[in-house]
Amino acid sequence: MIKAIAFLLAIIVIIVLIWLMPTLTWIRRQTIKDKPFPSHWLAIIKQNIPIYFYLREPLQKRLQGHVNVILAEKQFVGCGGLQITDEIKLTIAAIASLLLLNERGEYYPKLCSILVYPSTYVAKQIQHVGNYVVEETKVARLGESWSRDRIVLSWEQIERDIHNWNDGHNVILHEFAHQLDAENGTANGVPILKQQSDYIAWALVFREEYQKLRKNVERGLKTVIDPYGTINPAEFFAVATETFFEKSKPMALHHPALYNQLKRYYKLDPVEWI
Ligand SMILES: [Zn+2]
Repeated sequence: MIKAIAFLLAIIVIIVLIWLMPTLTWIRRQTIKDKPFPSHWLAIIKQNIPIYFYLREPLQKRLQGHVNVILAEKQFVGCGGLQITDEIKLTIAAIASLLLLNERGEYYPKLCSILVYPSTYVAKQIQHVGNYVVEETKVARLGESWSRDRIVLSWEQIERDIHNWNDGHNVILHEFAHQLDAENGTANGVPILKQQSDYIAWALVFREEYQKLRKNVERGLKTVIDPYGTINPAEFFAVATETFFEKSKPMALHHPALYNQLKRYYKLDPVEWI
């Protein structure tokens, strides 16, 4: 009888803890967000993320809070002899935080580690036929988001990206957009949206724009959105995110419906920053 009561109590405690977990996580993160932001951290962000200047003060504060949480919760690993510095951590965390300014993200819940190589790294690509491995090739990569638990980045590529915020390329925005996309369990170009009705509008616009890009690339036309987005809908969302932040004006002009979907999702309007 006592054993049965103890077992029942243990079950109740576990249920209460599970029920309280989101609240406890929220309280812990609020405390981390409110931690002071060192001035040399801010100097790095101002130097490497010019977009920061365009954000209104409450958004700048929100970004600093998100950076604090990412630094506290994610592991940064230097690979290939690279030493992780404050500049590397802050640059990655701040750009990743731009995608969380809509206050809907859960800080990339599946992501545990961010692996950074000094330059382009070589990844093994395995070709399968059924269950059999038929070929293993080596492919040079600039960045990679493994939907489960890690992102792999090249610092050399990041340095190139932070020196050019108008070319539509940013490996950090790209790989973290993949993380947002995979948050609901499937990387299919559809992140978690606020309302059920948002999914219909998103699907209509993204499907049409994806097909349009494929057609224009097939015809050899110059496109605002990088042709890499034609690979699949997940890549299209990642590339569209890069374009939204870096080529906002041409995107708003030539792809207004797509721009508006992203503006609504990220709760930002980069056209106003120009
Ligand atoms: Zn990608």
